[in-house]
Amino acid sequence: MSLLGALSDRTLELGPAREAEPSGNWRRARTADHVVWLVLDRPGKSVNTIDRSVIEELATHLDWVEAQRPVALVIRSAKPAGFAAGADIAQFTGASKEEIAGMLGAAHGVLDRLAGLSAHTVAVVHGHCLGAGLELALACRHRIAVSGASLGFPEVMLGLHPGLGGTYRSTAVADPLEAMTMMLTGKAMPARKAKAVGLVDAVVEERHVAAAVEAALHGEFRPREGGLKGAALRLRPARRLAAAQMRKSVAARASEAHYPAPYRLIDLWEVHGGDARAMQAAELESFSALVAGETAQNLVRVFFLREAMRGLRKGASGISHVHVVGAGAMGGDIAAWCAREGLRVTVSDVALPSIGRAMKAATRMLRATLKDPLKVRDALDRLVPDPGGLGIAAADLVIEAAPERLELKRRLYAEIEPRLKAGAILATNTSALPLETLAEGLADPARFVGLHFFNPVSRMQLVEIVRHARASDETLRRATAFAVEIGRLPAPVKSAPGFLVNRALTPYMAEALIMVGEGIPKERIDAAAEAFGMPMGPVELADRVGLDIAVEVGASLRRALGADKYPESPAWLTEMVAAGRLGAKAGKGLYDYDGDGKPAKRKLDALPDGAPGDADLTDRLILPMLDAVVACLREGVVESEEIADGAMIFGTGFAPFRGGPLAYARARGIETVTAAMTRLESRLGTRFHPDAGWAALSRP
Ligand code: NAD
Repeated sequence: MSLLGALSDRTLELGPAREAEPSGNWRRARTADHVVWLVLDRPGKSVNTIDRSVIEELATHLDWVEAQRPVALVIRSAKPAGFAAGADIAQFTGASKEEIAGMLGAAHGVLDRLAGLSAHTVAVVHGHCLGAGLELALACRHRIAVSGASLGFPEVMLGLHPGLGGTYRSTAVADPLEAMTMMLTGKAMPARKAKAVGLVDAVVEERHVAAAVEAALHGEFRPREGGLKGAALRLRPARRLAAAQMRKSVAARASEAHYPAPYRLIDLWEVHGGDARAMQAAELESFSALVAGETAQNLVRVFFLREAMRGLRKGASGISHVHVVGAGAMGGDIAAWCAREGLRVTVSDVALPSIGRAMKAATRMLRATLKDPLKVRDALDRLVPDPGGLGIAAADLVIEAAPERLELKRRLYAEIEPRLKAGAILATNTSALPLETLAEGLADPARFVGLHFFNPVSRMQLVEIVRHARASDETLRRATAFAVEIGRLPAPVKSAPGFLVNRALTPYMAEALIMVGEGIPKERIDAAAEAFGMPMGPVELADRVGLDIAVEVGASLRRALGADKYPESPAWLTEMVAAGRLGAKAGKGLYDYDGDGKPAKRKLDALPDGAPGDADLTDRLILPMLDAVVACLREGVVESEEIADGAMIFGTGFAPFRGGPLAYARARGIETVTAAMTRLESRLGTRFHPDAGWAALSRP
């Protein structure tokens, strides 16, 4: 094998015959034919991220390269997972705009030196090549992707756009519209698509990397520079038209006030596209402003909340077979999701038609989320209808998702528990029943736990791990690990009425219904919540949950927590329920629903005037929700502000760009929030009385 061939192996062993200089994050080697290889291999990490030290060391290597004048410089990664996963985002938290601009300016200088080398420069990328990793690759003259690589700019999901030259280099080398779409959506591209749009020069199997590098050195890959479209879009009027179209499609997904990054990116390209220097300066300025802004800081916080929740997993769950009892709306969805995530699943139900419906719904969900027909088939193979409940005896975990009736659930446990194998866990998906009471008849309550999934399971990432006094630590540990293993985010909560999420969501919906009773147009109420950043207004949410269920949950929280904060449902609402207007599932509730399940909403400008201002509406909706979260913290229902915020974001879709309810309260000011509540209390009643827990939050 040629030296080049040996070195192209990403496991790169630097033998004594080669000049090797292991230093920090990079390894360097020079072959006899004057090719220098720089291999990124961050010590102690399973994936490469790009941070200041990586760039600073690269600068030192470039000093050496400039002095040595090799024929070519090839950059690749030694990590099996991929080239690089992007920038190390920890460096963005809390930094000022000036600090970021300084750090980035220096990094741009280093990548510009790489781009300006007289030697051929080639990046060989495999696996993930994302964000700053892709920007590093784009600073090379050529890019060779190994089959299976995926390339992308996920920055937009953190409220950012690329900041290390990605905006102007990607739009210069690739089809600019494709490059912009990639940056605007944050979606990664498979290697073949990246080749088709001009982002990489070649896609090869690993064994052909050395030959591809040699081809690059012999000038066999000619720069495309965006092709014909690229040439046309170097003209400003053409970009203006395309930018208008982009703004329209972005606006359908995210508002500029809440998510400015995609809009800034479009501005950048519209004004400076085709002028690398100007676009670079504008990118730096725009990125630094975004990263120091509230949206990005909060989205970075959400990124770390997700990591923290995943980090609650300690060891493996040891669960490979799940049995679900009750194949209704939730049980069917839970079973299908577990099968999707690679577990063996059996499902039982008293009613055979329920199992049939669950299998149909599972097929739909699997097709929609997995796309690949082979994967769908494999997942369906793992999902076994089991009307007789034979799977119970073999399962490591049995999840009960039967109707929300105490006696029924206890009767079921009496049948299930004697059949469980040693070490198996029994879990309930109950939304509100106290676990202590459910566990009363169990021979071994230590193995009993709540696994509270949210509807729909495929979209809501949260699982509340509900503990009760007699649950064993090992059961809780395994249940938490299980949630992470199936790609969900665990939030440990104490068994208490409504746990965390339903307890906090109920006053939000209840207040919306009180407002409807006051004659405030429901469309305006929903619009106020959506403008705040909720994924769906509370009136529509009540319809989607089902008005019968909303009334019932409200009543059970009122019984447990008192009428002060959880007042009686309005009489008109109970009448609606009695008349069968149950919400979306009945085709009619507070709104009427069309055949596709869409509510008929009147246009806001067609509504009568005279309603209270939107800020007042928003406070009435949001503050009781914040107050319930604070009460849960004080009572120890949830342990930390981080988990509380994460649970509300991943369980209800609470405006992620606000960082969660408590981050929002802190940003607005604890005193300001409690003063606003007290004002509402004097006008509207005790449901706005600030919880005692606020005092603890206001202490530094
Ligand atoms: P559902 O009515 O859709 O499904 C319940 C299923 O249990 C039905 O298929 C029914 O045939 C079956 N069943 C009834 N008796 C049974 C028995 N003795 N043995 C086996 N199966 C039996 O109800 P759901 O909405 O799926 O709720 C199930 C549980 O999940 C409840 O505890 C509920 O509080 C909880 N939950 C519901 C939601 C939601 O949004 N629907 C969300 C979170 C938790």
